[in-house]
Amino acid sequence: MGSLTPLQQEIRRLAKENDTVILAHNYQPPEIQAIADYIGDSFGLCQQAQHIEEETILFCGVRFMAETAAILNPTKRVLIPDLKARCPMAAQLPPKLIREAKQKHPDVPVVLYVNTTAEAKAEADVVCTSSNLCTILQALNTNPVIFGPDGNMAEYARHICGYDIIPIPDHGFCHVHVTFSFDPQTLAWKQEHPDAKLLVHPECGWNIQEQADFIGSTGQMLQYARDSSASTFIICTEVDLVTRMQREIPGKQFIPALDYAVCKAMKKLTLEKIKASLVHNQYPVTVAKPVADKARSAIQRMLDLSSPKD
Ligand code: SF4
Repeated sequence: MGSLTPLQQEIRRLAKENDTVILAHNYQPPEIQAIADYIGDSFGLCQQAQHIEEETILFCGVRFMAETAAILNPTKRVLIPDLKARCPMAAQLPPKLIREAKQKHPDVPVVLYVNTTAEAKAEADVVCTSSNLCTILQALNTNPVIFGPDGNMAEYARHICGYDIIPIPDHGFCHVHVTFSFDPQTLAWKQEHPDAKLLVHPECGWNIQEQADFIGSTGQMLQYARDSSASTFIICTEVDLVTRMQREIPGKQFIPALDYAVCKAMKKLTLEKIKASLVHNQYPVTVAKPVADKARSAIQRMLDLSSPKD
């Protein structure tokens, strides 16, 4: 990362003065990644959030991520610079739908993708991220499982992890990742670059996942690209993971499969809003204790089941 602009330097100074740690998701733009203390995928951010010692966590991501940080580290103040930064997929699974599914299938465990509201997580037996869905299902080792909200991750669970899924809702999706399924350019790159590795996020449709050389979370894709002996990679996820790869892994070529795969919710945040957040302590993200306590046990179960065993 090059040198910081005066505004970025001011943000870093304010963060230090205010005893604040800045966490950023891989889908944040480069100028925000540059001022973060930690950049990662949802799972990595959960792990970080749990052990932060600073007084305040400023979360550069979408609201469910900031909520997860507030749930995991309830004594800290959690801020998000724009309250409108909300993942549309998280809104597709209201808690009522989960309660109905539990009534219909009383002995079936509920596994929820981390891209859900705190109230939804409070209804879950265990949470998962795109990096650990198979690990969680293998640990539960029961069929079927109620899973939501992403229908493409449900396909991943069926085909890759080998488990039967009862999806809630019927067709949940991320509008950014489904576009890869419908634009012929996604797979046309592979013909242009036959030696390139196709790296695919499991929120993409199964028709793209089944062509992949590797399916994983943004953090796992980054690691795969670092470790691989290949020199060219076609990336099926949000464009700013690609800008991070281009920046951090010199000497290799990273092609965004669709350069318009942009998550507008993630892009609500700007450096100006982050500065305002630090100056005015805005906007606090809180979760009511009864909800947070239940959601925490589902998130903690994920962390426990995902940690390496001796
Ligand atoms: S990329 Fe999709 S799932 Fe991720 S935050 Fe944006 S809308 Fe939500």
